[in-house]
Amino acid sequence: MDESFYQEQNAKFRHEQQWRETRAVPKHIADFSSNDYLGLSTHPALVQSAIEASKTFGIGSTGSRLISGTSEAVIELENTIAQWKGTEAALVFNSGYQANVAILQAVLESGDFVAFDRLNHASLIDGVRLSNAKWRRYKHLDLGDLERALTKAPNDSKRWIVTDSLFSMDGDYPDLQRLVKIAKQNNACILIDEAHASGVFGKTKRSGLCEELEVSRDITLQMGTFSKALGGFGAYVAGSRTMIDFLVNKARGFIYSTALPPAAVAAAQAAIQLIQKDGTATEQLWKNTHLAWSELKQTGLITEEKCYSQIIPIPLESSEEAVRLSQALWDKGYFVQAIRPPTVPANTALLRLSISAKHTEKEIIGLTKTLAALLPTTVLAAGE
Ligand SMILES: *Cc1c(COP(=O)(O)O)cnc(C)c1O
Repeated sequence: MDESFYQEQNAKFRHEQQWRETRAVPKHIADFSSNDYLGLSTHPALVQSAIEASKTFGIGSTGSRLISGTSEAVIELENTIAQWKGTEAALVFNSGYQANVAILQAVLESGDFVAFDRLNHASLIDGVRLSNAKWRRYKHLDLGDLERALTKAPNDSKRWIVTDSLFSMDGDYPDLQRLVKIAKQNNACILIDEAHASGVFGKTKRSGLCEELEVSRDITLQMGTFSKALGGFGAYVAGSRTMIDFLVNKARGFIYSTALPPAAVAAAQAAIQLIQKDGTATEQLWKNTHLAWSELKQTGLITEEKCYSQIIPIPLESSEEAVRLSQALWDKGYFVQAIRPPTVPANTALLRLSISAKHTEKEIIGLTKTLAALLPTTVLAAGE
């Protein structure tokens, strides 16, 4: 078999500073790129519940959800999620990527119209593409542009607005109250991806930005994952009984895939219970985030406008610059991911700092000082 085409593609990735490779993070490195925002991936209560579930129920779920893969534990987890998110029902998926592709492929059909924030997560793009619906991107967080996009919807089409709540690369989020109003005026359904907001935002239950901004009842479908702040693996979607019943019957990624293993289900249940009961980790995350903001602002690395959340983007001029800085930080004991196209739009690049409740003050201050020494602020000003 001739692999020369793929060899050339690999050479092209390298040439265009797009080369990626997997790399294990050694223990001594301070990890500022992980999504383990609350440090729950190593929490004893989660680990213990996963061990016990494995011992009692085994390693595998033995089938897809509509065959033999539905356990009492997963039904219980879905009830917990519905109560947490303030919806009638919820459904568990195997990963966030799979959930988004499956949900959008199911709810959309050709002829439907989707208004789509241009920085939405890749899994949302793939779901829309697979559905053959018409779609229009609007400028990132620009709800005026969203309204203009909706004017292009054919009169008789079903309409959906699809957006991340907390954006995975820029750490910012839309004015969800205004977005809900626009959806009502245009008779549009809404899918919100809370992957990075669950466990971080939410006034009492810490379930995400829909709770924080008090729009939960007006969102058609709220999806999220167990794989970021919840520390484990898997995903969910929450909504009305009607929508969840529909997905059970129609979402191919749900129907044709083996259900999550008992350990993942048990860990997710333990994580949601812990997050609802105990705000300590979330408070620590916000304390660390405020420290990082103030340190980074003092050194001129970011401006006030970048201070939205635990995800802090440092805009840079080029992919080369991002890769160089990321490597230099690695050499000094800090892992900060360089984010390049296609994850961000062409001709942009950034360092994405993600703060965790587990970071120490020393690590946060150390990172900021190291970064400031590596990066003359003049370069940054140009990047802004
Ligand atoms: C990580 C992420 C996903 C995918 O979730 P996985 O469980 O990792 O597959 C989906 N949407 C957003 C916004 C994400 O950041």
